[in-house]
Amino acid sequence: MMHDLELIRVGKTYPDGTVAVSEFDLQVSPGEFVAFVGPSGCGKSTTLRMVAGFEAITHGDIIIKGKNVSAIPAEKRPTSMIFQNYALFPHLNVRDNIGFGLDVKGVARKERDAKVDRILDMFDLSQFADRKADRLSGGQRQRIALARGLVVEPQILLLDEPLGALDANLRRVIQNELKLLQRELGITFVFVTHAQDEALGLSDRVIVMNNGQVEQIGRPEEIYGSPMTEFVARFIGANAIFEGRDLRQDAAGHSILTAHGRITGHASSDLRGTSAIIAAVPAEAIRIGARTGDQSVPNRLHGTIDTKHRIGSICRFKVSLSNGQAIDVETASRDRHVMALAAGDHVDLDCPPERVSLLPTHS
Ligand code: ADP
Repeated sequence: MMHDLELIRVGKTYPDGTVAVSEFDLQVSPGEFVAFVGPSGCGKSTTLRMVAGFEAITHGDIIIKGKNVSAIPAEKRPTSMIFQNYALFPHLNVRDNIGFGLDVKGVARKERDAKVDRILDMFDLSQFADRKADRLSGGQRQRIALARGLVVEPQILLLDEPLGALDANLRRVIQNELKLLQRELGITFVFVTHAQDEALGLSDRVIVMNNGQVEQIGRPEEIYGSPMTEFVARFIGANAIFEGRDLRQDAAGHSILTAHGRITGHASSDLRGTSAIIAAVPAEAIRIGARTGDQSVPNRLHGTIDTKHRIGSICRFKVSLSNGQAIDVETASRDRHVMALAAGDHVDLDCPPERVSLLPTHS
């Protein structure tokens, strides 16, 4: 199958010597929704701008639908980019803002008007067609930016933190619209965000970046449930991290010795010869109950509840362990004993080994 987008060892060093991206390999299938996520400065926007052609690549190749576009200027690439600040022209009306990309491409007036009308209708913006862009709400501006990106019928839509300027409620509404739109159009979306919930909630595959490099590529549930690196374990989700050593393997799996005794899990990579290892335990994989003294289950921990919050049907606890380490525990249990737990209670915790990831640590 031909990929819509392929990055082959793509790298970018800015003229001042900053290495923004190194050796980036990625293959995106037609109609896929992928999200780049990572902390500020990790190279997400630079990568997107290189795909768009706004930034020259230092080495490697960018292939779109089988064609090497590395040396092709932005306006000749089959991509459209949506920016966080929408980059609308405030003095132009909605119709002309949306038609701008078609004007740049030299599309004839009649065809341009027909295309703009069609997309105005699709985005429910027809009644605003003659209004100036600066007389619209944030949500409306966001829709215009999307309409402008899509009216040129790109093969790939590139979105750089497109929801960053919206308040939380509107963000949720537009997130849903975006997902529906992407399914409906079947266009490949490459989305950049620093917000993990957005990346995990919207995309088919997530690319976690750190320091100009790819840490992990996978489906949201893989990234969330099976982090492959310490960075991913710390950045995504709410994992309790336990440092340990003395790797052993027995029938139950691999285990390491931590401040809380042996913790058993699964090794995501070959850990032989690795001395410093961490166990990453997702907050929602930890079971919590009143202290019983029962030591028969694997991965038994003891702690004291610091705080408890109910959010809908979920209870979130902050629990201090015997060595002072505080961890998050999240449960959807309706068990009345769990519901009755309160700050100050002494609790037993445990986690099934299959939910624990053992990873090499660099610290
Ligand atoms: P992100 O989108 O993940 O926040 P960027 O791609 O914007 O990250 O930036 C990656 C790195 O490249 C950062 O260290 C940033 O400071 C640097 N950088 C971005 N643009 C330039 C530029 N024009 N010149 C020099 N360094 C830059």
